[in-house]
This record gives sequence, C-alpha cells and structure tokens, in this order.
Amino acid sequence: VPTANDSSTDCEAPPQSEELEDDNVAYFIKKKLHVWCRQPRGKWELGTIQSTSGEEASVSLSNGNVLKVARSDLLPANPDILEGIEDLIQLSYLNEPSVLHNLQYRYAQDMIYSKAGPILIAFNPFKNVEVYGNDYVLAYRQKLTDSPHVYALTDAAYNEMMTGEVNQSIIISGESGAGKTETAKIAMQYLAALGGGCSGIENEILQTNFILEAFGNAKTSRNDNSSRFGKLIEIHFSTMGKICGAKVQTFLLEKSRVVQLALGERSYHIFYQLCAGSSSKLKERLNLRAASEYKYLNQSDCTTIDGVDDAKKFKRLMKALDVIQMGKEDQELVFKMLAAILWLGNISFQDSDNENHIEVVNDEAVTNAAVLMGCSSQELMAVLSTHKIQAGKDTITKKLTLRQAIDARDAIAKFIYASLFDWLVEQVNKSLQVGKRCTGRSITILDIYGFESFQNNSFEQFCINYANERLQQHFNRHLFKLEQEDYELDGIDWTRVEFEDNQVCLDLFEKKPLGLFSLLDEESNFPKASDLTLANKLKQHLHSNPCFKGERGRAFSVSHYAGEVLYDTSGFLEKNRDPLPSDSIQLLSSCSCELLQLFPEMLNQPQKQSNSSHGGALDSKKQSVGTKFKGQLFKLMHQLESTTPHFIRCIKPNTKQLPGIYEQDLVLQQLKCCGVLEVVRISRAGYPTRMTHQEFSRRYGFLLVEANTSQDPLSISVAVLQQFNIPPEMYQVGFTKLYLRTGQIGALEDRRKYL
Ligand code: ATP
Ligand code: MG
Repeated sequence: VPTANDSSTDCEAPPQSEELEDDNVAYFIKKKLHVWCRQPRGKWELGTIQSTSGEEASVSLSNGNVLKVARSDLLPANPDILEGIEDLIQLSYLNEPSVLHNLQYRYAQDMIYSKAGPILIAFNPFKNVEVYGNDYVLAYRQKLTDSPHVYALTDAAYNEMMTGEVNQSIIISGESGAGKTETAKIAMQYLAALGGGCSGIENEILQTNFILEAFGNAKTSRNDNSSRFGKLIEIHFSTMGKICGAKVQTFLLEKSRVVQLALGERSYHIFYQLCAGSSSKLKERLNLRAASEYKYLNQSDCTTIDGVDDAKKFKRLMKALDVIQMGKEDQELVFKMLAAILWLGNISFQDSDNENHIEVVNDEAVTNAAVLMGCSSQELMAVLSTHKIQAGKDTITKKLTLRQAIDARDAIAKFIYASLFDWLVEQVNKSLQVGKRCTGRSITILDIYGFESFQNNSFEQFCINYANERLQQHFNRHLFKLEQEDYELDGIDWTRVEFEDNQVCLDLFEKKPLGLFSLLDEESNFPKASDLTLANKLKQHLHSNPCFKGERGRAFSVSHYAGEVLYDTSGFLEKNRDPLPSDSIQLLSSCSCELLQLFPEMLNQPQKQSNSSHGGALDSKKQSVGTKFKGQLFKLMHQLESTTPHFIRCIKPNTKQLPGIYEQDLVLQQLKCCGVLEVVRISRAGYPTRMTHQEFSRRYGFLLVEANTSQDPLSISVAVLQQFNIPPEMYQVGFTKLYLRTGQIGALEDRRKYL
C-alpha cells in the first residue's frame, strides 16, 4: 500500500514474520523485547519472555506476574518508539493486538483519527474533541499539519478535483452509531469553509442536513440520532473551486418505523418535534395532540430523548425549510400529512360479525385523518374495512379481517410518509440546484449503513449487507489498483498480491434467474407463496454457491466478506412486495390534499380497478423493493466508478455511547467488518517498507565493509542488501525505491545501532 514515507526504519528487532518463531524467540528473550500474551478471556497483555521449553513459554507480565503460556498465545509486540503511530501500516508487527493497542493508545489521548494506508479510521469520541473549526480548517488548508483528519482527507479530495479535474468521492462506512453522519457533516463543513463561509449555497447545503435528519433519523437502541436511510450528496464546484450546487440521493428509508417501534426506540424525529414545537394555532389547524396520545408514537414507551429539546428543534427545522425556500403553504401541507399519519395510527377496529370481520370505529381519529387527507370519513372507513374484487363485470365487496384492516391502515401511513420523504428530498434538490456556473466537478459524500449482523436478520439486513458487499468490491478493486500502479510505475516485478474477491457472493445476490433477488421476485409474484416456500426455493436453487447455506426451516445463511449472517425469511415476501392495496391507491388519488396529488404513484393511476390487493402477488407494473434497491445500487456504483474514492471507516469504541470506554472485542469486530484488517493483511503480503535509494543508502551505506566505488544510491542499496544476505524474495529493487517485506529493515537497524 503506497504510503508517502515509511518509518519502519526505526524498529529494533528483526521480525521475520508476525508469529514468534524459534529463531526470533531467542532474539526476543535476549533483547527483552515485548510480546503480546493472550489472557484467558481473550484479552492481550504485554510481557517479556523469560524462557521457553518446548511449546511453552514463561512470560513475565508488566504487572509483575509470571505465567506459563502456550507459545501459540504469544505474538510479537512493537517497539516503544512506534507507540501510537499515526498509520497502522508503519507498525513493524501488524498482528491484531498490536493494531488494537495502537488505536486504543491514540483514542485514550483523543487522537480519534488514524490511518491504515489509504483508509482514514475515525473513532467516535462521544464527546466534543477540540479538533474542528476555523483554525483547524486553516491549518489543514495551509498544510501546517498533516496528522490524520477528515479535514486532511477532504482537502486531498478537493485538491485532486481541482488539479486533476477528476471527480472525487468520500465513502464513509461503519456500523450504527459509529459516527458516519457526523463525519459526513465535518467533511461538508470543510468544503463549505473553502467556499468562503456560511452564506448562500454553502449554508443551504448544511441546512439540508437538518431537514433530512428530522425526517430520516430516529432514536434507536444503538444511536439516539440514527439515520434510517442511506444518503449520497454530490457537491458541485465552480472553476474557482467554490461550491455552486448540490444534489442529494437517498436509499431505502426504513418505512416500517412509521407504524411499528421496538421498545425504547422512537419513530422519526419530526413527529415529536411537530407535537412539541408547533404553535397553538398550527396545533388547532391540524387537530394536533401531544406525542403521547398517538399510538404510532406511544407504543414504545419512549417519546423523548435525554438532552434533546424537540420543540426547539422544530423551530430550527422551520428555519431550515425557509432557507431552502419552501413556502409556508407547502410547509403546512407537510405538517398536515404528518398529522394525518398520526391520526391514521389511532384508528381502531371492532368486530362486525362472527366471521372475524371488522368494522372501523367511527371516532375522532377517522374524522381527523379524513379531514387532513381531504376525503370523507365514509370513504376512508370503506377502504380500511373492505376490499373490492372485480369479478367479470361485477364488483364484489368483501369485508376485511382485523389483520388485513391493520395492514391496510399501516400501508397507507407508510406510503404517505415515504412519499413525503421523497418529495422533501426533491424540494431540497430544487433549492440546491446545480447552477449554470458549475463546471461539472464534484465531490460525492456517501453516508451509508454499514454491515449488520444481529441475532435476527431480516430483509433490511439482507439489502444493507448486499450494498456493503458491493462497496467492499469497489474498495478492494481500488486498493488493488493502487498497489499495482505503484509497483508497476516503479518497474518492479508485480507478483500479484492475493486479494479477497467477493464476486462469488455478489453473484449469489445478483445472478439471473438463479440469484437471491431474482428468486425472491419470482416468489413474490406468486400469490400463494409463503416465507417457507421462499426458503425452500432458495435452498433448492442456490445450494451449489459456496457463499450460500440452507438452514433449518425458513432460514438461510450467507458468507459475507465480513462474516456469516443468518437470515430469517419471515416477512421477506411482504417487505419485498410492499403492497399498497389498489383500493387505497384510488382513495389517495381522489383526496383533495394537494400534496398527495404530487406523489408520483398518484399520477398515471389507472382508473380501472385491479384485484391484486390484500396479500396477493406483486403488482406486475410495480418494481419490487429488492429490485429497486439493486437498481439504485448499480447506478450508485456506476457513479462512483468515475470518481477517485477516499475511504473513511468509522469505529464505535463502545456500545454505551459514552466517552473514554474502549471495548476491544467490539473494535476488533468492526476493524474486520470494514476491511481495515484486510488492508493491513494486504500490505503485509506485499512490500510495506518503501524507501528511496537515496534514503536507504544514506542510512545504511556506511555499513558496507568494502568501500563501494560507485556513488550511485541504487548500487549502494543493492550492495548493502547483499552484504547482509537479505534473501532475494524479501525485497525488490525499483527505479526509485527499494521495496522490502515486513520487518526486513530490523536487522539493518540493529547493526546500525550496535556499530
Ligand atoms: P447510524 O448508522 O445509526 O446513522 P452513524 O454512524 O451515522 O449511525 P452518528 O449519528 O454520526 O452515527 O453518530 C452518533 C453520535 O455519536 C452523534 O450523535 C454524536 O453524539 C456522536 N459523535 C459522532 N461523531 C462525533 C465526533 N466526531 N465528535 C463528537 N461526537 C461525535
Ligand atoms: Mg447516521
């Protein structure tokens, strides 16, 4: 992995490998070098080896204890001089405890940013760290510092865009609560600052964050401000390098949150903000109550967030809507739709006969929802309690069961919210419109959910992990290209460093007709299909793919690059179809609310009734959720392909959302999932130590026993290597640099010191 300079020149020991092998154990004992010693519960402690016998070693720990441990539980530790080094690639030993320790050392001192070759690692400090603001922007802009930072990375992207005229992308990933959204904002702030400060378009762009967060973020068990959608923002620049416009794209909003909440979680912030912050006049116009009075909001026993003032946030939101020039009438329409959703949730049902059929309770919930949507209570009640079927020329009306009625109600609420969200994004884009002055240069920032593996994984994880699989491939290929280019440029023999390729896993998802998405769609089109028939179908057709494993019952597992995930097909079909009964569509398209009329699904409504509603198959005209997502992702990848990517991996140091706590296992698992350890592995497989011939000959030339007649640095380098019997497979001589395998420099350093 290309790094500008390499400081492995300072290590003290001759580490031939990451393991402690027979020949270097003796060396470690003699030199009293530190080793990592695995403790019973997996924790690593520093110690020194006192003696060995067979496969056992006696180790003295830093706390004074002496332990007998298996040799396999020991790994070499890095010399003190490398403690807390900025780039992990510079470590002499890149084993897990060394990497973990180095990051922990930095984190403890509020050095939240580090690098692993080309990747920026960003730890979430869960507190304010004094590394942002104008002074820092200036320092990075003027290159007064080069320590790892989002600013540094953004600056590099900006410069590359300006000088190389290549579009750039900043790809931010990490698990929920790791700090992706904050990091994206920090990058945007930097770019806005370059644009000259906080007026005009720069300010508008920053304000849009506020709008998108109000409507797309929610409190979850893992993050009080969790983004429930993926976001891409493309920031455009003028020839002068000033921001001149932007475009936002969103992915896969979690709709189910509007109607269903896990205990302790909340729905989208905007609902609580509206209930808490709207003026009494607005409340009156919307028939609005407190959040605690709405079933969609009170079902989880959590309507507030510690330290968050929803009322104040509402005022802030209204300002942001003003900034993007949304008219007061449109704002009111938005609030009206939100209130309609809340009242829909309060609609209840009662038995109507003895055959499990229901009727709608005609109370204020129905009245208010109908008024806000702009239809009659009767129409709304009919849609929520009956289902029209076309039989030849006749229309038969069937009553719904309680489950069907609840689903119909929730489907309307989810539909309105998701359409409202898309409409808002459209408004945001209109206001940020990429102007004529734009030259087409851009920096794209991607803030997208990271790999997820829970106890129970459903359709959402399925889509999210697929997206990550795609991004991982993008990452691998980019890295591979970088490595190759660097080697080839320097004319060295490029023996392919092995890369983990995840094409097989991508094929599992994407192949037609026998891939996960295709089979899922096929089954979704089949009215009688169930989650079990889906699981059986997948098992039948995909068992030969090495990344797929059929599991018991409705489950299957996929070997993702970041680990194996067990998926439960329960609900897959329903979520993939995401049905909105045709009766409901008709009702909505006949509503008088102006905003509803603007939703794309409402346009081109066929006047003829179809009978594909209520648990039936996928409407043939409608794209499934999975296919739509796949399509979006393809487009995204295509878009990213023409940019130079910059990667930021956000790491959550603990699950408590608190500062100062570093949970080693949690960090390790994330480093694995986001490919940091892979980068480290790749660099180890290659030639991580790179020194120019000048540097090398200056540092070690004097060790030559026979005076070298040539003054040329390259020949001096080669002579040194030969004198010290460095095996030829351990180095390569390039035109400008010497490439050495991990640790080779140690022996030379040692000679240098003891001479
Ligand atoms: P999700 O996937 O759930 O959206 P995320 O990765 O986007 O999660 P953020 O919302 O960015 O996570 O961060 C979670 C919280 O962590 C923030 O609300 C903030 O309190 C804190 N945080 C993150 N990054 C920083 C930072 N650089 N400085 C201070 N606090 C931070
Ligand atoms: Mg987020």
